[in-house]
Amino acid sequence: MNDEHFRAEVRSFIAAELPAEMGARNRLGFHPHRPDVQFWTAKLHERGWSAPGWPEQAGGTDWSLNQRHIFEEESFFAGCPAVNPQAFKLVGPIICALGTEAQKRRFLPAILKGEHLWAQGFSEPNSGSDLASLQTRAVRDGENYVVNGQKIWTSEAHYCDWIFMLVRTSTEGKPQAGISFLLADLQTPGITIRPIIGIEGAHALNEVFFEDVVVPAENLIGEENKGWTYAKQLLGAERTHTAEVPRCKALLSRCRQVAGVLEMGGQPLIEDAHFARRLARLEIEVLAHEATLWRIVAEEEAGIGLDFPMPSLLKVKGSELVQRAGALLVEALGDDALPQYCEAEYFPAPPDNPPGDAMAWGAVADALYHRSMTIYGGTNEVQRNIIAAQLLRG
Ligand SMILES: Cc1cc2nc3c(=O)[nH]c(=O)nc-3n(C[C@H](O)[C@H](O)[C@H](O)COP(=O)(O)OP(=O)(O)OC[C@H]3O[C@@H](n4cnc5c(N)ncnc54)[C@H](O)[C@@H]3O)c2cc1C
Repeated sequence: MNDEHFRAEVRSFIAAELPAEMGARNRLGFHPHRPDVQFWTAKLHERGWSAPGWPEQAGGTDWSLNQRHIFEEESFFAGCPAVNPQAFKLVGPIICALGTEAQKRRFLPAILKGEHLWAQGFSEPNSGSDLASLQTRAVRDGENYVVNGQKIWTSEAHYCDWIFMLVRTSTEGKPQAGISFLLADLQTPGITIRPIIGIEGAHALNEVFFEDVVVPAENLIGEENKGWTYAKQLLGAERTHTAEVPRCKALLSRCRQVAGVLEMGGQPLIEDAHFARRLARLEIEVLAHEATLWRIVAEEEAGIGLDFPMPSLLKVKGSELVQRAGALLVEALGDDALPQYCEAEYFPAPPDNPPGDAMAWGAVADALYHRSMTIYGGTNEVQRNIIAAQLLRG
């Protein structure tokens, strides 16, 4: 099937299956909540589409990289709730590659159907960029590990079922050599989850405390003390998904729509040469970024090895473009941007008479959340170090 037929097929599936109210909420930047994520994952699973990036035999698709990007773009534009990224993009592929047959049977089907949502427990209060310094201990005791310590910034842990984490299993040798990759049921006694409210007012982040938490040793991924190698594999994958092209395009299209309607000095804002120039400049940068992404996709499809840290480059450029596009939208909205909503459970649907202009819904909350994009998934300063180190090494 050619790409345009594929795009049409994806569009008609979404039009038939996505409830209008759910799409509207997500297009306005509300944080998706558990029922929406589970509903949409189950719908995708019925069609065999919930895990496009997984190997086919594990429940993935036979799509080309092009098709996967088209699918992500169409899903984003329509406002489909994102499937749980920690499960589908991070721990799922690791279980596919390194899990035992028993682990695959136990965990993968529940991810594919949206029954289990997963949290990522890597960062700790004193270990973020310097992740190898992490202190959460897992001590072997017969058939179990006993875990003590704390994780932080754990996205969505409050509504997840499982957590995959890096734990210290040895203090011998280099810090990287004593880390293991462990899976824990978040209902296990001794785990406490406390909310962190973001700058945008939403509850998406958490602290997770472990006090004598007993985790079966069969939940270890791969070999003990090899977790750092597995995590590096996974963090590379995380950054390839942060080009954020659909998000940039959606923000700029909303910005153009707003600027065509809202007036400044008696004329639509888009007629203001200074504003129009800034918008056009950003649109061009996003198109150039998209061209880079498609070039990388084409080279990957052709099996051409890339001699450049592309994931880092895409992450830096994509996150900064999102921040600039979101800020320009807020600026275009002016005072109308003031209403600030971000939690879908408070506002299951926009009320009949939303305060402020309907176009402004969620714009400020969204722009505030964008501030975190240059931090999570490895800060942009650290990504620039990676790029510089590789280029300067020659
Ligand atoms: C919205 C959000 C969601 C997140 N979700 C998760 C999650 O689900 N699971 C999880 O485990 N973690 C998560 N994180 C944590 C995230 O991975 C860390 O915040 C990130 O790795 C940075 O670590 P830190 O916050 O400890 O900052 P630090 O590492 O302390 O960095 C502080 C500052 O110093 C700079 N810096 C540090 N080292 C260097 C260096 N070598 N060179 C130059 N500058 C440097 C950084 O760029 C930053 O500006 C999330 C974070 C956010 C904001």
